[in-house]
Amino acid sequence: MLLVTIDTVRADHLGAYGDVRAETPNLDRLAHSGVRFDTAISAVPLTLPSHATILSGLLPPHHGLRNNGAGAFPSTRATLATRLSESDYRTGAFVGSYVLDHRFGLARGFETYDDDIARDPSAPGALEAERPGREVVDRALAWLAKGDERPFFAWVHLYDAHAPYDPPEPFRSRHRDHPYDGEVASVDAQVGRLLDWLAQTGREKETIVAVAADHGEALGEHGELTHGFFVYEPTLRVPLIVRVPGLVPGRVVRTPVSLVDLAPTLAALSGKPLAGALDGRDLSPALLGRGEPPAADLYSETEYPRIFGWSGLSALHRKNLKYIQAPRPEIYDLAQDPHETRSLAQARTPRADLEAAIASFRRDALSPEKPGNADRESAAKLASLGYISGSPSTPEHSALRDPKDVAGAFRQFEDAHWDLVGGRLEPARGKLLAALASDPDNPVFLDSLGLAYRRLGDFEAAIRSYRRAVELSPGDADSRYDLAVTLKEAGRIDEAFSAAQDALSHDDSRPDTLVVLGIALLAKGKPGEALAQFDRAAALDPRDARIENNRGNVLRELKRPAEAEAAYRRAIALAPRYADPWNGLGALEVEDRRFPDAVASFDRALALAPADHEARLNRGIALEMAGDLPSAESAYRDFLAAAANDPRFARERQVASRLIARLARKESEASQPERR
Ligand SMILES: [Zn+2]
Repeated sequence: MLLVTIDTVRADHLGAYGDVRAETPNLDRLAHSGVRFDTAISAVPLTLPSHATILSGLLPPHHGLRNNGAGAFPSTRATLATRLSESDYRTGAFVGSYVLDHRFGLARGFETYDDDIARDPSAPGALEAERPGREVVDRALAWLAKGDERPFFAWVHLYDAHAPYDPPEPFRSRHRDHPYDGEVASVDAQVGRLLDWLAQTGREKETIVAVAADHGEALGEHGELTHGFFVYEPTLRVPLIVRVPGLVPGRVVRTPVSLVDLAPTLAALSGKPLAGALDGRDLSPALLGRGEPPAADLYSETEYPRIFGWSGLSALHRKNLKYIQAPRPEIYDLAQDPHETRSLAQARTPRADLEAAIASFRRDALSPEKPGNADRESAAKLASLGYISGSPSTPEHSALRDPKDVAGAFRQFEDAHWDLVGGRLEPARGKLLAALASDPDNPVFLDSLGLAYRRLGDFEAAIRSYRRAVELSPGDADSRYDLAVTLKEAGRIDEAFSAAQDALSHDDSRPDTLVVLGIALLAKGKPGEALAQFDRAAALDPRDARIENNRGNVLRELKRPAEAEAAYRRAIALAPRYADPWNGLGALEVEDRRFPDAVASFDRALALAPADHEARLNRGIALEMAGDLPSAESAYRDFLAAAANDPRFARERQVASRLIARLARKESEASQPERR
C-alpha cells in the first residue's frame, strides 16, 4: 500500500477537481484510474494533527494533537502503520518536514521513519524546516527498491506546496504568476515518479494507492493567507484519491467524506481492519459495491487561534449545510454559496442541534479543555518545541475574541512572521507594532516583536517586550527562554542565569532552556557545570546542531580539543547552513596553530553568515598568527567597518583597534633595521 500526503494542496487547484489551469497530469491520471472523492474534508487544517487523523481514524480530540509541535500521538492507540506492521507488512515513512519529526509520535509501527531533515538553528521557523519532495521521493524509491517478500506500506509526505512558494524549475517559469500552482505542479511530478515505479515494477496490480492533502491553503480568501486560523472551505476541502486494483476506474464519490475515514477504509481494503473505537468510518463497502457511502456529519476544528488567546473554532458539515461554531456562529448552504460569503446565522443564536452534534464529537477529549493547570501544561508543551505558545488566561469560550474579529491583526502577524523568516526585520517590526495596536496584550505578538528587536540589535527593547510577554503569560516557558537568551546576548549574564533558572522551573524538559543555562554558566566561568547542562540538552534532542555547537565551545574551553572538534563537526553535519560551528572550529584550529585551516573555516562561517562579525575578527587573528600581516590588518579594518554600529561588539572593537595599533608597531619595528 502506498499513501502519499501532499501537504497544503487545495482540492480546487488540481485538474481532476476542475482547475483547467492546473499542471497535475499524474494526479489527474490517478483519479481517472481510481476513485475520486469529490468532497473530502480535513478534520483540522494543521499538518501534525491532520496527519495523526489520517493515519489513525481518530479526530483531534481523541488523539490529543490539536496544534503543531504540541505533544505526541498517544502510544497506546493503533495507526495504519502499527496495524500493518503487526500483520507482517514492511513499513516505511518518508516525511518532508520537521513538523512530522518522529518525536511527535507518528513513527510507531514504521520500521523505517525517514525524517532526516537539516534544521537551520538561526531560522525563526525551525518547526517548518523542510526538504524538497525530490529528496523525499529519492529516499522512498531507494527503500522500495530494497523490498523483500513481504507486502509493503509506504507513507510519503511531500511538503513543497507549503509557504513560502518557491517552486523548482521548470515549474517556476511555467507558473510565474501563480507560484503556489507551480509548487503543486512540482508535487504532482514527484507523485508521478512513485506511480511510475509501481507501473514499471508491476506492483501496480497489487498495490492500493491513496493520495490526500492534509489541508488546503486559503491564498488570501476570508482574509487568511495560509491555513490553520479559520475553518473555511479553502483550507478544509482537500483532494482524496484512492486506487484499488480490480475496481472500476474513474468513479467519483459525491457524498462528502472526512479524512478521518481514510485509515479505517484503507485498513479494511487491505484486509486488516483497525480495532477499537474509531471516529472514522470504513467506506470500503461503498467502494467495493459501487454505491455512495451514507451521509454523515463531518467534524473539523482548529485550536490554533487559542494560542493567541482567541477562541478556537469548530465546523460541522451536514450534507450541504456547514456550521461554524464560534463566538458568533456562521451557517452556510454550500450548494448555494460555495464560497461562504453569506452566513445564514449572522446575529442569530447558536443552532442547538448542530452545537450538540459538535459537542458529541468533542466528548471524552484526550486532553480536556479545563481552565488553569491543563492549559498551562499544554502551553509548556507547545513552548518546548519553539512553536508559538499558549494563552495566559482561559476565560469562558464565549468571552474569547472571535477569530473573524482579529483577522486583520493576525494577518499582520503572519506577514511579519514571513518577514522575520526572510530577514526583513524593519517591516516585521512595523507590522508587529501595528498588530499590537489592535491587540495590545497579546503575548505571542510581544514575543515575536522581541525577536524582531533582538535581530535588529536593540536588546533593551527586546528585553522589554519579552518581560511584558512573561508578565501576561505566567505559564509560558517560551518567552522566559527568549528573555534569558536575549539577556545573555546583551551581556547581562547574571540576569540571564536567573531567567534561565526561572524558565527551567516552568519546564525542565526543554533542551533550549538547558542551553541558555549552560551558556550563562560558561560565561560565569563554570565550564564543567555548563557541559553537564549541554549534555542533558543533547540527550533530549540529539539532532539539534546548536546544542552540539555549544558542547564544542565548552569542550574547547575545557581544553578537550578532539571532543570539541567532533562536536563542531556533528553540528555542521546536522545543519550545513549553520555558521557558528565553523567559527568554533576555526578558533580550535587557531589554538592548534593550523592557521590556513582556521582561515578557511572562518571564510566558511562568513560565507554562511556575512553578519558574523566574530568570525571576521577571528579571521584577522588567524591571518596575523599565520604571519600575513597586511591581510590581517585589512581583516581587522573590515571587522571594524562591519561591526561599527553593533552594540554586541563594543569590547571586540577595542580589541581590534589595539591589534591594528600593535600591527603598525610590528611593521615599523620590522622596517627600521633596513632604514639604518
Ligand atoms: Zn500541512
